[in-house]
Amino acid sequence: MEYRGRFAPSPTGDLHFGSLVSALASWLDARAHRGRWLLRIEDLDTARCVPGAAPAIIGALERLGLVHDGTAEWQSARTAHYARALERLRLAGLAFPCGCSRSELAAAAPGVDGPVYPGTCREGLGEGRLARAWRVRVDAGDIVVDDAIQGPIRQRLGTDVGDFVVRRADGPWAYQLAVVVDDAAQGVTHVVRGADLLDSTPRQCYLQRLLGFESPRYAHVPVAVDRQGNKLSKQGLAPAVDPQSAVRWLRAALEFLGQPAPPASATDVRTLLDRAVARWDVRRIPARRTQPAPEFVLRSVQ
Ligand code: GLU
Repeated sequence: MEYRGRFAPSPTGDLHFGSLVSALASWLDARAHRGRWLLRIEDLDTARCVPGAAPAIIGALERLGLVHDGTAEWQSARTAHYARALERLRLAGLAFPCGCSRSELAAAAPGVDGPVYPGTCREGLGEGRLARAWRVRVDAGDIVVDDAIQGPIRQRLGTDVGDFVVRRADGPWAYQLAVVVDDAAQGVTHVVRGADLLDSTPRQCYLQRLLGFESPRYAHVPVAVDRQGNKLSKQGLAPAVDPQSAVRWLRAALEFLGQPAPPASATDVRTLLDRAVARWDVRRIPARRTQPAPEFVLRSVQ
């Protein structure tokens, strides 16, 4: 089986340290397995997308030596595939329209990612209620994902999440559906990404099962946080990676990932990355969900 990894940034701002860590980890894992590394721009949530961010991310990755194979996919061009997947779920009785508003759901019990859906529209929309979203019906079983870094993650979707949204009320396709359809379409075998997505993974494995897709192997790297423990975000004040100082940023990302420091003689991107591929070992990555970003990055975060 050919190894296929991918990096799937949302173009909501410049590449920052946290996204560099995910990109580098997935690139190194793919190269160490002599696999392919694909790029997918996750631009479905148009309200959050920033014009010019996608080409800026692609340009920065190239200057950092993280060159992808094949042509980049853009989710905005793939909506027909998501529609087909939803249709399959609907025909199988696995998806239903939901008329609940955010405020109606706010009172529900808290789960791993917001309120647990209380099942209000499961058996049909009430009188006079309009469909605001499509949800997928979950079952009562446990889902266990054996993460290559974080170990086994167990969730019971019925009580931890509830029936979840696959198409949002305001139009866009939900991340959970799009990512599953695209990982399958691109033949992705290994997903290496930030641990902020760990709690989404059981939902993705569940959708893969419903749609008859094989689940990739997952490895979730720690998320870079500031001094208050908040995720460095593109929308926040995290500084953009400066490709002019590519070697410095790559060294910092390697250290963050627990990898041995490349020799001082590795002063150019190519040599540094070659060394890093040769010595790449996933087992060295700290099994933590979060980890402070390096000092030089934090200094510029207010
Ligand atoms: N687009 C997501 C993000 O930028 C990543 C999705 C994924 O890797 O599954 O956070």
